[in-house]
Amino acid sequence: MINEILNKAYLDRNDILFLLNTDKEDAAELYKKAADVKLSTVGNRVYFRGLIEFSNICDKDCFYCGIRKSNKNFSRYNLTDEQILEAAEFALKENYASLAIQSGELRSPAFTLRIEKLLQKINKMSGGKLGITISLGEQDKETYQRWFDAGAHRYLLRIESSKSDLYYKLHPHNNLHKHSDRLSCLNDLRELGYQVGTGVMIGAPYQSLDNLADDLIFLRDFDIDMCGMGPYIEHEDTPLYSHRNELLTKRERFVLSLKMIAILRIIMPDINIAAATALQAIDPIGREKALKVGANIMMPNITPGMYRNDYSLYEEKPCTDEEASDCKNCMEMRIQMAGDTIGYGEWGDSLRFRKRIAK
Ligand code: SAH
Ligand code: SF4
Repeated sequence: MINEILNKAYLDRNDILFLLNTDKEDAAELYKKAADVKLSTVGNRVYFRGLIEFSNICDKDCFYCGIRKSNKNFSRYNLTDEQILEAAEFALKENYASLAIQSGELRSPAFTLRIEKLLQKINKMSGGKLGITISLGEQDKETYQRWFDAGAHRYLLRIESSKSDLYYKLHPHNNLHKHSDRLSCLNDLRELGYQVGTGVMIGAPYQSLDNLADDLIFLRDFDIDMCGMGPYIEHEDTPLYSHRNELLTKRERFVLSLKMIAILRIIMPDINIAAATALQAIDPIGREKALKVGANIMMPNITPGMYRNDYSLYEEKPCTDEEASDCKNCMEMRIQMAGDTIGYGEWGDSLRFRKRIAK
């Protein structure tokens, strides 16, 4: 049965559900197929995005996230432009070729301007050599346009759930948190010419396998260029912490995440798929395991060490007490062990995106 499904040219919703439900033995077949698809499309090269989490100040109140506005149990930080530029220089020196710049969500003319200037400075410093992914939440189209013009060319905005009923169990239902806005942001980003990345948390409260199958179908229908998805990890200072006893175990969420990645690689062979940091919060070599089943992007954290503890979206975030270079060394070794090579100095744009714009 499993091989019959894996050999189909097109997986429908029932097939996807079957694959999400597989036992250990069948899952091994799924992973093998995903690894083959990866090798024959995007190859065994992993691309780095040096991750700079420059501020944990956020105006939103997502029910799952440790840095939500209403959490007063930690200190807020905001790196200076100089500190961000220093981290960008580190990435350039280490030949990472791309940055991923992320923070809590703020919407204001001052924030738009700050990011615009910052992107210009990074581009000037690197002579345009650094690819830039940004992940700064929902913004109006003009803001996205200005950041694109200033040199950002990839955007990560997780849909969190493709279905609005689940979305509103994970977020407050108010003007700042609207499922329809999230969707229109993704459409704006696509229209403006960004490589668009989205994804979901896996194993969140209220979420079913049916939801996850729908999410995969959403990713395919939207024709995404990139995906970032990883396990939900509870945080004690959030409203959803009260559901901690109803969740899948962390190990089950981890395995489900690997299955999601493997299925996505099979149904969208030529996109970029990140090995989410949250995988490593459950398993020390979690991201490398994701590389083996289809992921091809790593986001080494290059945020200055002293701030890492304060960017705690979830519990047990890995490597928060290490300096960037330590992270790089241990990661290099583990990637080689996973059988991949690192695409140093290469942007590693989404093949799917390249094909789409060539049309
Ligand atoms: N503020 C921006 C970017 C930072 S949050 C935004 O929300 O888009 C980046 C991602 O972290 C979110 O999309 C969410 O999916 C993930 N995240 C937040 N809390 C989490 C948790 N408790 N477990 C796992 N992932 C989480
Ligand atoms: Fe803010 Fe993003 Fe966390 Fe939501 S997920 S509270 S927008 S940082």
